Amino acid sequence: MRVTGGCLCGNIRYEADVFLHNGYICHCTICQRSTGQPAEITVLIKAGTLKYLKEEPKYFVSSDTGKRGFCENCGSRIVWQALAAEDDWLTMSPSAVWTARLKRGSRGTYTPTRNCHGIMPARTCRS
Ligand SMILES: [Zn+2]
Ligand SMILES: [Zn+2]
Repeated sequence: MRVTGGCLCGNIRYEADVFLHNGYICHCTICQRSTGQPAEITVLIKAGTLKYLKEEPKYFVSSDTGKRGFCENCGSRIVWQALAAEDDWLTMSPSAVWTARLKRGSRGTYTPTRNCHGIMPARTCRS
């Protein structure tokens, strides 16, 4: 689904195709510390479809496999992106997606001791 979104202050705007039926919820300690929450919730972005319309996010390399994009002005979380060039998958913070209502029921099982990466099985919304 094609969506638009952005950060709180408006400096970052984007368009992307996202897989709204595939929620990705990670409970690793990196995601917990990054969000200040028990888990990070994201949706998958179709490779090659993410286009920034204004400014681009700043990135923090949070592990040996990924970096996290955020707005340097307001701090909004925007995207997680793999570091390896051959690994082209990304995830988007659902709070930054404006044009779609996320499907309920997606969930993952990643724990603090497990690696952050993996695609959670999709669950479709029953509401
Ligand atoms: Zn911002
Ligand atoms: Zn994680």
